[in-house]
Amino acid sequence: MKDIRALNEWSVVKNNTPIAIAGPCSAETEEQLMATCKQIKENIDITMFRAGVWKPRTRPGSFEGVGEEGLKWFKNVKKELDMPITVEVANAEHVELALKHDVDVLWIGARSTVNPFTVQEIADALKGTNVPVMIKNPLNPDLALWKGAIERIYNAGIRDIAALHRGFSSFEKTKYRNIPMWKLAIELKTDLPNIPLICDPSHIGGSRDLILPVSQKAMDLDFDGLMIETHYNPTEAWSDAAQQVTPARLAEILNEVKIKQRQL
Ligand code: PEP
Ligand code: MN
Repeated sequence: MKDIRALNEWSVVKNNTPIAIAGPCSAETEEQLMATCKQIKENIDITMFRAGVWKPRTRPGSFEGVGEEGLKWFKNVKKELDMPITVEVANAEHVELALKHDVDVLWIGARSTVNPFTVQEIADALKGTNVPVMIKNPLNPDLALWKGAIERIYNAGIRDIAALHRGFSSFEKTKYRNIPMWKLAIELKTDLPNIPLICDPSHIGGSRDLILPVSQKAMDLDFDGLMIETHYNPTEAWSDAAQQVTPARLAEILNEVKIKQRQL
């Protein structure tokens, strides 16, 4: 794993500014996507826009994403607002559809990283492409499993790889939705220093008021970026309503977070 060289144009920390990825938990309607992206663009510069179209829900019966239809909306958002877009993929068909609709960057969710069969299926579908991939940590605090997923994507020929830290599931009740276990993420950074490490304070915190302190902690620990769930009307969001922030609040958070001086 030592030879992984993942730094690339979209992931390089520019002008001391960490990577900022923002957008709703889920794509709901084309209007919601467009309004959210537009308001973000009006408030702050971000690196990439995110939204899930296939949503891994804990229990059946809740909103499971709009599917391929949402990828068509992405195209219009991209055309109108000129911003790279990232989406979660959880199987080979998702990869094919995302690439067919020109999604710029893919991410693998925590529920997929736990399963080597799933990660391998995604890796096989990625062979021969050079689409950048971000890999979330698995639900459980298993560093080898996280690294194994990164290795599978690397072995498929992908060189633009980033790791996303979204905290770990636990029976223990804490103020976090998913316990950060920062030491584990730092160990990944130490083992794979060329893989940008991005923090997802939204899924760690699970509530709006924790986004700023968790983001600050990540910056203090020298993370390379943040992925923050942002919705133009968070309280009405179809998934993860408690943790999404408005574009105006996103701008405040990104302006308030103090970034350590970096050596560029
Ligand atoms: C998400 O990013 O909306 C998501 C489902 O995340 P995770 O895989 O971290 O639960
Ligand atoms: Mn979410």
